[in-house]
Amino acid sequence: MADARPAQVIVIGSGAGGAVTSLELARAGFDVVLIEEGRRFDGKEYGRDATSAMARLYRRRGMTPILGRPAIGYVEGCCLGGSAEINSGFWHRTPREVLLRWRSQFDLADAMPDDLEPHFAWAERELGVSKYPGPWPPSTQWFARGIERMAWAGQEVPRAAPGCSSVNRCASGCPSGAKQGMTARLLPQAERAGTRVLTRCRARLLLWRKRRVSGVIAELEHDDGRRELVRIDADHVFVCAGPTETPALLLRSGIKYRIGDSLRIHPMLKVAAKFPEPVDAHSTVLPLLQVKEFWPAISLGGAYSSLGHMAMLLSDSWPQLAPVLDDHRRLALYYVAVKGTGAGRVRSSPVGDDEASLRYHVSAEDLRNLSNGLGRLSALLLAAGAQEVYPAIHGLPRISSELEAVRWLDEIIPRSAVSLTTVHAFSSCPIGERASRTAANSFGKVHGFENLYLNDASIIPDSPGVNPQGTVMALARRNVLRFIATR
Ligand SMILES: Cc1cc2nc3c(=O)[nH]c(=O)nc-3n(C[C@H](O)[C@H](O)[C@H](O)COP(=O)(O)OP(=O)(O)OC[C@H]3O[C@@H](n4cnc5c(N)ncnc54)[C@H](O)[C@@H]3O)c2cc1C
Repeated sequence: MADARPAQVIVIGSGAGGAVTSLELARAGFDVVLIEEGRRFDGKEYGRDATSAMARLYRRRGMTPILGRPAIGYVEGCCLGGSAEINSGFWHRTPREVLLRWRSQFDLADAMPDDLEPHFAWAERELGVSKYPGPWPPSTQWFARGIERMAWAGQEVPRAAPGCSSVNRCASGCPSGAKQGMTARLLPQAERAGTRVLTRCRARLLLWRKRRVSGVIAELEHDDGRRELVRIDADHVFVCAGPTETPALLLRSGIKYRIGDSLRIHPMLKVAAKFPEPVDAHSTVLPLLQVKEFWPAISLGGAYSSLGHMAMLLSDSWPQLAPVLDDHRRLALYYVAVKGTGAGRVRSSPVGDDEASLRYHVSAEDLRNLSNGLGRLSALLLAAGAQEVYPAIHGLPRISSELEAVRWLDEIIPRSAVSLTTVHAFSSCPIGERASRTAANSFGKVHGFENLYLNDASIIPDSPGVNPQGTVMALARRNVLRFIATR
């Protein structure tokens, strides 16, 4: 029977932000209830085929559109542990330059590298952040050769997956237990410290009056499928429902100031490269290196490969490229990601399930950087020895030579032809002391409220230009420790 008794603190959402928040609060002796819309799975149920993994672990079965021209395919987690259960575990500290810009543009207080150092160090210890333990798989080796030929700055990125055994199941939940999603260590510790966890429990509305939130109305799904609305009262509420659902919940609840108006993403264009020999990227860990030569505008790296992902990528030019799938053992997927200088917004869907509806305008600069990045990535892969590169662009089935590749350093891919995806969304409720640009103060306290806090990817002030989970966790821990210290 779900325990919906009042609590001192309600934490909504159990992803990277919510897991850190509930753990630290419970350790400090707070009576915490953590409510999570998705289900709880044990490790034995991880690692299944992509279709059933998406149905169980992903929001909307992995089909969330970000509307705009072009529309962008977006996925996020909806399960205990959130997106970290299905991500690749790549780990970055927030670059100094990015933190300086946030200080300058948002007046973000106490978030310079020295301020965040202990929180990164803590998270890195907890998650065992480290380099890949074995020899690099072929898809990484080919990429490394390309980086060397181009003489560009590139590096292996550490991951939260100590002892990774290269089974290539990151996106379906790690079946070997190597990847340190939130259900691996942090949430079990939070539960041992006393956090009550309610899964299949979706926060529908925040209850508030004047400057105070008094609790949450949530929809609880019982084992027999029955749904019940419950009211949970609390002294404080931390909303950690992720970059899309946090603003949607606040907007549904009538809390609007700077909420959902500044969604940012890292738009991503993928390519498949065909190598002269089998690389078996569909059954080994994804390419482990990233090129930062053109950072912060452009990053190049390795994408998750499965037969389904390969087929989807080739589908932009399916009549010409369908036979390429017969050679899937020789294919590996890579990406160009750009910083994302466009603007987006989140709204609570006016119809149906009340989940977030998303829009993002890919700026002319984004498009130029994606084109430029495509030229560079294709040149790198062809210099490494790839025979052909297949970009996710309708009407451009293949790039077969470095000369063909460099064309994109000067030309712009037509907006209507490019197929973009992203797994990095943030900044929908930015934090900082500059109230005209932010939804909450530097530590996540919502402007105008005494006891309502945000603590997930939504608070990242602007695009970090690197994989965001580290930034989410470091900021979340800094914020919650500040909350505890001031009680
Ligand atoms: C496929 C994929 C690969 C990625 N790869 C990387 C990577 O390699 N490195 C990296 O740094 N980042 C990566 N990311 C991004 C990173 O995982 C996220 O930025 C980070 O996990 C976001 O954490 P969060 O706490 O903000 O949100 P989430 O992890 O999305 O957690 C939010 C939680 O809140 C729950 N929730 C939402 N609404 C409600 C509600 N109303 N009531 C109750 N619960 C609710 C959701 O179900 C979810 O569990 C990847 C993401 C994906 C999807």
